[in-house]
Amino acid sequence: MAIISCPFCQHQISDKSRVCNQCDGDIGAMSNEQIASKHRVLKIKKNQSIQVQTFMALLLFVGGFSLWYWEDKPGESWLSLGGQGLIVVGFIWYIVNRARLIFNKRR
Ligand SMILES: [Zn+2]
Repeated sequence: MAIISCPFCQHQISDKSRVCNQCDGDIGAMSNEQIASKHRVLKIKKNQSIQVQTFMALLLFVGGFSLWYWEDKPGESWLSLGGQGLIVVGFIWYIVNRARLIFNKRR
């Protein structure tokens, strides 16, 4: 018995089970090729969502930077502090998403 991930919901299931116990997806009715193509589509979709999040992280970073940059009294107002917070969050989020993108490509 081997553990595979469900082509519908990615839940870990046994390759002997014909129906996913997580989402009730009918795996038994699918050919290996259909399952493989389902996995490909899921992977592409995941890739796209990571790319959207990477873009949003960049926007956060740039937005935070402009808040911080255009504020008259840097380091004092909540606007400047908020900007610095956004820079940090955007930067970390960006790095995390780049790592997820690489990890997703390798699988
Ligand atoms: Zn499932």
